[in-house]
Amino acid sequence: MKVIVNRDNCIGCGACAGICPEVFQIDDEDGLSTVVCDDFSKVDETSLNDAIEGCPTAAIEKVED
Ligand code: SF4
Repeated sequence: MKVIVNRDNCIGCGACAGICPEVFQIDDEDGLSTVVCDDFSKVDETSLNDAIEGCPTAAIEKVED
């Protein structure tokens, strides 16, 4: 499983980075969310799911490998 941010939909509100900073950070350059995690086996599922559900534009998606 991995997580992607659809940057066309992201409005840079920062909610995901606030809820689950181990996976999401706001890019200094463009102000949009970026996935900074490459090992999702260690990620807290609850905060990841909260971040996905909390995104106001539904820009975050879980993708099965
Ligand atoms: S919560 Fe959604 S809209 Fe807000 S920064 Fe994260 S991906 Fe972008």
